[in-house]
Amino acid sequence: MAYLKSLIEGFLNSQVKLSRAKGLGQFILKNSQSLPNSLKEDLKRFDLLPLNKKRAILKEVLKLLDQKVEEKNLKDFLRPIEEEDLTKAEVKVLKDLGIYRVLDALYYFPTKYEDRRVLNSIKLAKVGEKVALLLRLKSIEKVEGDYNYEVICTDGRNFISLMYKYKDFRAMLRFKQLKEFVAFGKLKVYGDRYYMVHPKIFKKDSPQINKIVPLYNVRGVEGQVPSELKQRRIREAIGKLVGKYWQGFPETLPGWILEKYQFPKASEAFRMLHKPTTMDLKIYQKRFIYEDLLLFSLALLIRRENISSRPAPKVESCKKIYRDFVRALPFSLTHSQRRAMEEIIKDLEKGKVMMRLLQGDVGSGKTVVALFASLCLIRSGYQVAFMVPTEILAHQHFKTAKEILKPFGVEVALLTGSTSTLERMKIYRLCKSGHLKLLIGTHSLIEEKVKFKNLGLVVIDEQHRFGVLQRKSLIEKGFPHLLVMSATPIPRTLALALYGDLEVSQLRELPFKRKVKSFLFYEDEFDKVIELVREKLKEGGKGFVVYPLIEESERLNLRSAIYEYNKWKEIFKDKKVLLLHGRMKESQKREVLEEFIREGHILVSTSVIEVGLDVPRANFMVVESAQRFGLSQLHQLRGRVGRGGEEAYCILVVPREVEGSEE
Ligand code: ADP
Ligand code: MG
Repeated sequence: MAYLKSLIEGFLNSQVKLSRAKGLGQFILKNSQSLPNSLKEDLKRFDLLPLNKKRAILKEVLKLLDQKVEEKNLKDFLRPIEEEDLTKAEVKVLKDLGIYRVLDALYYFPTKYEDRRVLNSIKLAKVGEKVALLLRLKSIEKVEGDYNYEVICTDGRNFISLMYKYKDFRAMLRFKQLKEFVAFGKLKVYGDRYYMVHPKIFKKDSPQINKIVPLYNVRGVEGQVPSELKQRRIREAIGKLVGKYWQGFPETLPGWILEKYQFPKASEAFRMLHKPTTMDLKIYQKRFIYEDLLLFSLALLIRRENISSRPAPKVESCKKIYRDFVRALPFSLTHSQRRAMEEIIKDLEKGKVMMRLLQGDVGSGKTVVALFASLCLIRSGYQVAFMVPTEILAHQHFKTAKEILKPFGVEVALLTGSTSTLERMKIYRLCKSGHLKLLIGTHSLIEEKVKFKNLGLVVIDEQHRFGVLQRKSLIEKGFPHLLVMSATPIPRTLALALYGDLEVSQLRELPFKRKVKSFLFYEDEFDKVIELVREKLKEGGKGFVVYPLIEESERLNLRSAIYEYNKWKEIFKDKKVLLLHGRMKESQKREVLEEFIREGHILVSTSVIEVGLDVPRANFMVVESAQRFGLSQLHQLRGRVGRGGEEAYCILVVPREVEGSEE
């Protein structure tokens, strides 16, 4: 702006320079925003004007450049859209889109743009693009084929056919009434013939053409078909608001960022994106994308700062606990487990709240790491809440925790939906008094009634099954440390975006070199599947047969589950075949699983086997209709077997018709 000003001043001060200037008007037009239309017209034919007129114009431009628009207060944009701004119908159509305030409208960006600037020669248009052409009618022909009317037009030199399919001729009458009109549509070419299919037709002076038209997302109220009219109404409504309010929008980005990336100001970008004068809008869009990402990262930083500035549960030196813990384990830790524990120790000793994501493939041994963290806090006098998504997992973790923490004399309890009232009461009491050190359970842990005396750590297993809200409500029971465990492989950047505030520890190796061989069979090769299963059973193993939920109705699912179950029982008469289906109660499921772990051979299951479930000696997994599972689900399923280090089989079965299809 300052540059433009001094340039104009330079021309005003030198008669010679001004009389020789060529293209100055165009230059000013390009580099200044929001000049009145009359002035724009003058600038367009600037070179043709007499010198004194030129001077007058330049002076006027200078005056306008001097009138700096004051930045308004953001409050002015937060007020509701009023009927003095728009018509009732317009206010309503915006409300349907969730646009209530001026600010909402400004930030409701178009998703696409149509260049409806009218071209008066077909040769100027690009084939394959949507273009607006000024045309004259030559003739209307009735034709055979996909379209029944061909409207032959000309731009004066070349011909173009507009193809329509209409029931009767009446739709064609408008062409007869309009001698000259603008057709807007995709320009195509067939041989040496130009054509368009069902282009929109506008009168030559329609306000809908001769400009770049923004298109907005009009999803609106459900079930409502977005109509042309609605699109236009939204466009007009937003256009009015932008026209009235874009100026003086308080700049959000600091000047040095604008300068560094050559970004336009927010106000100018709003105007250009909603009322574009060029199709090259990238820099205006980039500006807001940048703003979004910047605000997002800042919000994360602030949040982290907030959390870490809170007093954290104090932990005394974990080094000794670490040594004792390692010594008491029945196995030696993997390298990554050690590193994760060291990272946790560092977190805990910092005196700030730990927010850590422990990520590792199924079977990588996350539970032990979490139990170590728990022990650190328990040894310092705190309590730990260990939350898992299902009852079965809660039971398994309960057992593991009791075993591993036994040498340390830690009081552990289990709380799930099926805990008896009596037991529940006891747990509430012990929790409140602080005597209970480790409470493992399902969602029941976040119930109002569970009160901890001094909660020091919250462990959440398989985080992706919990909502953020649940996590939050646990944290609100104090400001304990947080350890989240997940088997889903997530890249660090995505983890940050999802969880925002978590540091990541990764378990990259498995305690055993897991050897899982994968097989793929078609359904008619079932005898081969049976053969492999026999082989694995002979080795003393056990395994799963998984069916996806296929039918819509639960009853049908149950029926097909029982059918499949009977089939497997028939084939393996001398083995213990068990059934697990989605309709069972949690406690029933648990009994079946426990029986399976104890003495079963084959578990036929319709519900996906618990994420995180640990079944020693499981060495095969048959997945029926495998094409119905997602890749990460298959990955999870495969992780259920071969945890003991022996070779395991993962057998995928698909129908013939999947062959070569895209599924
Ligand atoms: P996940 O990471 O899937 O939750 P778990 O914590 O359930 O894995 O561990 C799977 C099995 O591996 C458990 O039986 C556990 O006791 C065992 N395990 C964990 N760490 C080791 C290790 N370092 N060496 C041997 N076995 C281990
Ligand atoms: Mg687990």
